[in-house]
Amino acid sequence: MMAGDCHCEDCRRTSGSGHSSHLVVPEASVALTGEVRTYGRVSDSGNLVTRAFCPDCGAPIFSKNPAMPAMLFLRASSLDDLEIFQPQMHLYAIRAASWDAPSAGMLAFDKMPPAM
Ligand SMILES: [Zn+2]
Repeated sequence: MMAGDCHCEDCRRTSGSGHSSHLVVPEASVALTGEVRTYGRVSDSGNLVTRAFCPDCGAPIFSKNPAMPAMLFLRASSLDDLEIFQPQMHLYAIRAASWDAPSAGMLAFDKMPPAM
């Protein structure tokens, strides 16, 4: 449905870099196997965002946002084929570090897109 790079504080901290790359997909379209551990944190929008990560290595796998309950925010880093991810936009671009500035010419929102 959407693919983008998010520069919000949570995404920066959990990525170990300047942003996280997400694919927003219908949860029903994804078959998850194995275990994840989760933690929740209230986002800037006031929603309790739940992040799921590998309990063994800590790698982020996906997150859920009650504002979009049928959707899964899948981390691009979790894909077997990284080329599936084709970023369309930057989120929270206003918080991007100077060394991780949004790509020129790509759609960039100061925060979240209006519909999210
Ligand atoms: Zn984010």
